[in-house]
Amino acid sequence: MSADDPIDRSAVPRRSAEPLPWQCRFAADLLARRSGWGHALLLTGPAGIGKRRLAEVLAGALLCESPRSDGSACGECAGCRYVAAGQHPDLRVLEPVDVDDEGVAKPVEAIVVDRVRSLTEWVQVTSHRGGSKVTLIVPAERMNAAAANALLKTLEEPPSGTFLILVSHQPGRLLPTVASRCQRIAAPRPTVAESVAWLAGQGVGDPERLLARAGRSPLAALALGGADDQAERASWLAALARPGALSAVTLGARIDALPREARKDGLAALIGWLAGWCDDLARVRFGGEPLQNGDMKAELGALAASVAPIALFRYHRALLHARALLGHPLQPRLVAEALLIDYRDLFGR
Ligand SMILES: [Zn+2]
Repeated sequence: MSADDPIDRSAVPRRSAEPLPWQCRFAADLLARRSGWGHALLLTGPAGIGKRRLAEVLAGALLCESPRSDGSACGECAGCRYVAAGQHPDLRVLEPVDVDDEGVAKPVEAIVVDRVRSLTEWVQVTSHRGGSKVTLIVPAERMNAAAANALLKTLEEPPSGTFLILVSHQPGRLLPTVASRCQRIAAPRPTVAESVAWLAGQGVGDPERLLARAGRSPLAALALGGADDQAERASWLAALARPGALSAVTLGARIDALPREARKDGLAALIGWLAGWCDDLARVRFGGEPLQNGDMKAELGALAASVAPIALFRYHRALLHARALLGHPLQPRLVAEALLIDYRDLFGR
């Protein structure tokens, strides 16, 4: 394999990133205005709407060595093939993951200063392929303060041909000095109809319900749509449907049964199910239809009569609070147990 032929042609070709359907027109407009891009872009918008995909589309266009007339990546040149293989020497992705000695990536809390220092050294090196050098920082708000500070100089005076694309769904958490040095771009949000059509196209059954559960984020809904998740949901909801028989300790132990690094996600999923369930209980209590758990209408109806609306409201607020604290170190199992005990108490055994 020569240096100009990064990918074995017999291998299944990976395509360059294409915009999601609701991003097509927006991406085309952006690409048409490419000469006006600053060297640092900040893509903002709610989680799960495809900001990272859009960032990858822009990065692909910057690294393509023979872009199409509309500015998009050709998908065929050596640059595009390196990008598609995840091996472009002039592309760096900074994200909160650590890769261990065996090459296994594990999520970590923050993008730390050492990672940014290594990046700032890297941007000073001449481009390997003689074109742009591109860095994606996803999500940018996960840089801790030292890391963000270490990035300032590069943001201020990047070597020519260097582009930084920051992706953030919480831009308010960025250092103002970082945010102010970036050209801010609000990523397009899909309509419900666009999301549902896309999810259906991905083979997701019941896309409306999943989308509602995922707070209207289609990518989060897609992640929720996995078969394992469906089985897990069914088993938790069966327990919630019978609060009188619910054992918080037994159920809490299910969180501890997960691998350590998955426990926080397990708790997040439980909080999501509890929140959706209580939301539906409130709807049914006031004569409405369940929105997120339409398949459990009978169970919700049986419970709704015995719950006090004010207690339910308070509990829902406690769930949102617990969700907001998810990023902090805590004992996922104990939080799950406390939430389940409070849930059981809603029905005044
Ligand atoms: Zn290309």
